[in-house]
Amino acid sequence: MLPTRQGSFRLFQLAGITVFLHWSWFLVAYYGISRRSDAYTSMVWNAAEYLSLFLIVLMHEFGHSLACRQVGGKADQIVLWPLGGVAYVAPPHRPGATLWSIAAGPLVNVVLFPVFTVGMLLSRSLGWGDVMPNLDTLLFSLWIINGMLLVFNLLPIYPLDGGQILRSLLWFVMGPARSLMVAAIIGMGGVAALILLALWWRDLWIGIVAVFILLNCGRGLIQAKKMAQMEAMPRRAGYACPSCLQSPPEGEFWVCGRCQKPFDLFQSHGECPHCGTGYAAYPCLECGSVQPMGKWIVTVGSPSGD
Ligand SMILES: [Zn+2]
Ligand SMILES: [Zn+2]
Ligand SMILES: [Zn+2]
Repeated sequence: MLPTRQGSFRLFQLAGITVFLHWSWFLVAYYGISRRSDAYTSMVWNAAEYLSLFLIVLMHEFGHSLACRQVGGKADQIVLWPLGGVAYVAPPHRPGATLWSIAAGPLVNVVLFPVFTVGMLLSRSLGWGDVMPNLDTLLFSLWIINGMLLVFNLLPIYPLDGGQILRSLLWFVMGPARSLMVAAIIGMGGVAALILLALWWRDLWIGIVAVFILLNCGRGLIQAKKMAQMEAMPRRAGYACPSCLQSPPEGEFWVCGRCQKPFDLFQSHGECPHCGTGYAAYPCLECGSVQPMGKWIVTVGSPSGD
């Protein structure tokens, strides 16, 4: 339920992260600027306000991406689309690493908050509203935009940042599957509230956001159910994934790329028992990371599976 790179074009690359812009951003830009056309005396200031929104969202997404990398995750893409930005982050499958990757986004807005507050207060106290009304309006708008982005993102509604922060915190106490399930169910409650709000305010935009959140909560529930089934499976003692520290499940869960038959990669020591194809890298079914056998952690005792 994320925007794909389809319909997006590459803007630039910074610190190894490629930024894409979705075409619909222009529609929203047009809509946003024309709706506030009387806020400034010149359209140039409207454009400046919109560009500032764009930059604030971009900085927020870079916060996610850089934090994710810091904890050893993968993050090399940001797509800006009308519902904000999406940083494609794949942090290591651990609650702490996930928490930091998610929290770093809103943290950027927290850091920006005093900056914009000083700008706005400076303008107010120096009377710029009379001499430079456009600049005064812009500074006030930036303060509002950043504050609203912060508050909205921190709503505890999965998959908004607040909902994902809640999920990471629950993960510490109830594990990855149950925490996702609880966060998605709370998110559904948030969707109901948003739909009521959209009807009450007759706001189509909030309605669209609510549908988007609903689809993601549904997907989260399905994912949580799969994870719970996986958690319940018997584990092969002796090995643990170097990325998420989970032991692989016991059973024929890997599919041979050559003969397409399922087999147990760990029991057969990386060799397909049907056609004899050998595999040097072992994919973790839990977190998706693919690591050479030597990188897998050998836990207590000798690896079983003979
Ligand atoms: Zn975010
Ligand atoms: Zn793993
Ligand atoms: Zn095979």
